Amino acid sequence: MSLIGKSYDCLLVGAGLTGAVLAYELQKLGQRTLLLEKSPRPLNATALSYGGIPYWAGQSPWQKRLCQESRLLFSQLDQELGAGTEYRELDLLLYLQPGDDPQILAQNFQSCRMAPQFLDAETSVELEPQLNPGAITGAFRVPHGHVHPGKLLNAYLGAFTRLGGEIVLEKVQSLAPKEVKTTQNVYRSEHVVLCNGAEARGFLQSLGLNPALYFSQAQLLKTAPTNERLRTLAMPARFGRLALEAQAPQWDWDSQNPQTWAEILEVGGVQFLDGSLCLGQITQFTPRLNHRPDLAQAERKLRSAVGAILPNLAALAGQAFNCSVAFNPSPYPLVGAAPGQENLYLFTGFSSPFCYVPPLARHFAQALTGQISQIYQEVEGKTRSAFHNS
Ligand SMILES: Cc1cc2nc3c(=O)[nH]c(=O)nc-3n(C[C@H](O)[C@H](O)[C@H](O)COP(=O)(O)OP(=O)(O)OC[C@H]3O[C@@H](n4cnc5c(N)ncnc54)[C@H](O)[C@@H]3O)c2cc1C
Repeated sequence: MSLIGKSYDCLLVGAGLTGAVLAYELQKLGQRTLLLEKSPRPLNATALSYGGIPYWAGQSPWQKRLCQESRLLFSQLDQELGAGTEYRELDLLLYLQPGDDPQILAQNFQSCRMAPQFLDAETSVELEPQLNPGAITGAFRVPHGHVHPGKLLNAYLGAFTRLGGEIVLEKVQSLAPKEVKTTQNVYRSEHVVLCNGAEARGFLQSLGLNPALYFSQAQLLKTAPTNERLRTLAMPARFGRLALEAQAPQWDWDSQNPQTWAEILEVGGVQFLDGSLCLGQITQFTPRLNHRPDLAQAERKLRSAVGAILPNLAALAGQAFNCSVAFNPSPYPLVGAAPGQENLYLFTGFSSPFCYVPPLARHFAQALTGQISQIYQEVEGKTRSAFHNS
């Protein structure tokens, strides 16, 4: 093992959305930044994402402020990064099924920055002709931001390296104060930030910490470009997955049993500008980070469920993929210093990361260089309590 002579101001573990965005913002402020990624072509949560940006959905003052910042940031991002992200606004349709009560579901949106508007079934199908009129009873509609996740990632990584940032493809194995060991090297850095999503949990546990950071396994269908058109980003109005995520602190995440506590299949869909689609998703909650679901079976389940809601899209050429997704049941992400660890930080556990990661990465980068905003202070305070309560 060699000791790399060079040392860095900031070293980030993981080049998904969180790592790529934060690396760029740090390098932009003149921090010599190294981004370590274990996989040359990671099929991570970012690569498999829908890329939706719900800047209408912020509920508390800090979220509403970041939603506002996010919308402005995205409107100027292609120009700033010098690359296309396919950023646009489209309608989000949160469809209702028989048995769903629109008045009860509308309560979820009461304190949102922009409240979605209820449409009857006929108007919903006029807006999104792919929806099966026999399967839905109406929908909530709201304008939603959207990007191509892969293009957004490449735009950030490209801008980061053009500013002088370095990306090295090595797997991080362990952390020590201001030091990171990979499979090949040891790196020194003033600040180390964990941006490795679901895998950050294991690193924190190896340091004796027990964070409220969990993960699920997600499978979705990615199709080839098609002439079929999906005009909106469609999703169920009942957020079943979020209700399950809220139960995560009750489950025994250190269990050695190969169990699955809960599984949910939600039919959503979005189309990218090249005509390809993401459809799905199945979510499983299990303590096995390396769980490898049967993808042929997942594909069958996804196609059958998609067939009920978006019938013309169910048989398109495509295949199922799986990834792990980090989450934290609190609305606050885990952002800031890890308690009791010298210069070790977290930037993970986001809900709606495509909305909150870009603006919050700016606040984080400024905080590391001495300018601490009120929003950063609030989020970091909650991060500390996410450790104490766990
Ligand atoms: C089907 C689906 C749809 C989604 N839709 C949306 C949406 O519309 N809007 C939204 O906001 N969010 C959405 N999400 C969630 C969002 O995509 C993810 O939460 C987000 O992309 C996670 O980014 P990340 O950087 O935390 O993790 P990841 O993208 O998983 O990246 C983590 C990286 O860390 C690397 N890594 C891990 N361990 C190590 C190590 N030891 N050494 C080096 N590298 C390491 C991994 O290889 C990986 O590349 C969706 C997720 C899924 C699955």
